[in-house]
Amino acid sequence: MVDNRQVTDPAIMLWTKLLGHIDYDDAVWALRQHRLTQAGKYFEPGSVTQQLAARRQSAALKPLEQTQCDIHEGYILGPDGDCHQCTRFPEDRPHFLATGERPAMLSLGALTAPIGKQP
Ligand SMILES: [Zn+2]
Repeated sequence: MVDNRQVTDPAIMLWTKLLGHIDYDDAVWALRQHRLTQAGKYFEPGSVTQQLAARRQSAALKPLEQTQCDIHEGYILGPDGDCHQCTRFPEDRPHFLATGERPAMLSLGALTAPIGKQP
């Protein structure tokens, strides 16, 4: 642990109950941000939610083109600069950089056959 505190089973259970819904990578990011920006402040469960709320607010204030993937139209960028589609299809970015072609994006409606009609 970063601050030499004792990590007990009851503490783990409490933190899990309070923050179990938060993605592990997001929690690690919040810990890192807290350590880098909140010198001398004790790290608490609320520190995680404060850091993530600040990140969301910061992202919301960015111009739209800086929050959306430049390859996958309409997909929001995560903290690492990739969108969900970039994670699912890692070959898309090298293809885009090499050819300038964006992957074909299908809407959910386009993926399902209309009811009562043959494709
Ligand atoms: Zn993407």
